[in-house]
Amino acid sequence: MKVCRLRLLSRVASVALALFVAGAAMNTRAQQIVPGSMDVHWNPGAPDCQTDTQPPLQVHQYEPQTFILRQNLCLSAEGNFLFLLIGDQKALLIDTGAIADAAKMPVAKTVLGLLPQRGDAKLPLLVVHTHGHTDHRDGDPQFAGLANVQVAPFDLDGVKNFFGFAAWPEGQAQIDLGGRVVDVLPSPGHHRAHVVFYDQRTGLLLTGDFFLPGRLLVEDKAADLVSAARVIDFVKTRPVTWVLGTHVEVNRNWQLYDLGASYHPDEHVLQLTKDDLLTLPATLAAFNGFYTTAGHLTVMDQNRVLGALAIAALVILILLIWGLWRLWRRMRRKPAVSA
Ligand SMILES: [Zn+2]
Repeated sequence: MKVCRLRLLSRVASVALALFVAGAAMNTRAQQIVPGSMDVHWNPGAPDCQTDTQPPLQVHQYEPQTFILRQNLCLSAEGNFLFLLIGDQKALLIDTGAIADAAKMPVAKTVLGLLPQRGDAKLPLLVVHTHGHTDHRDGDPQFAGLANVQVAPFDLDGVKNFFGFAAWPEGQAQIDLGGRVVDVLPSPGHHRAHVVFYDQRTGLLLTGDFFLPGRLLVEDKAADLVSAARVIDFVKTRPVTWVLGTHVEVNRNWQLYDLGASYHPDEHVLQLTKDDLLTLPATLAAFNGFYTTAGHLTVMDQNRVLGALAIAALVILILLIWGLWRLWRRMRRKPAVSA
């Protein structure tokens, strides 16, 4: 009897020890997160862009080695956010934005200016993309041919090969910047080659157009649902400081701005939370495949909505031509009757 109790006691003790070790490990991981600041007021664009005096790129230093850049809404109504993460050996730029012309939008010059010096040269830079839509990669040519700069591909085969995704969209990849590791997760649905980045240094989850405060454009609902489950499974065991997408399209009350609006008064903050992200599967499940508003989020299939608008415009045009033709015939008949 005494032996049994001793065994039981030792089993309880070992379970308690295991729980303590696991808790300590999680705490250590959480403690390693470098804090940053989202205390920033993003420029709102302007009701009259002719009089706009805001800089083409607004730069916010989240913490000494992390920068968030936003493109002026007057120069591109997409108002893309770009992210620059600096490691010991390499820096990582996520997306190059919507404008190719360096004179108009000096992305490369600004980013290189933020890089620390290493001897005679700047820290090497790797440029990657959340996905291949043009507003996330039109700035690529500004980096072409620059010393110590590598630009990763954005098409699906290129992304698979570059990150080594043998069983896309399964698996994960990692980018080692030296003392700073960034996880890469396949997340097709908005775009077939979309990826999400998780920065282990800051705990920032960079979600591109997959998840953001605005319209969630979905081109493949089934793929997006699987991606949502994958990303949520990943963040379950990791600290997430903020979830940062690449656009803001709503005001503080989650009301959408018009498509193409170059003025965002009273704009919603960029940062969302892990809890916000956890609502995504239910929102996507409610999506009717065309246009759905669920909770704060609006989900739409841009191709279908544009297709429906095109058909509606065509029908209106046909009716207009038919009406004019009838009118013309009636007017031609009139003189014959009076004669
Ligand atoms: Zn996109």
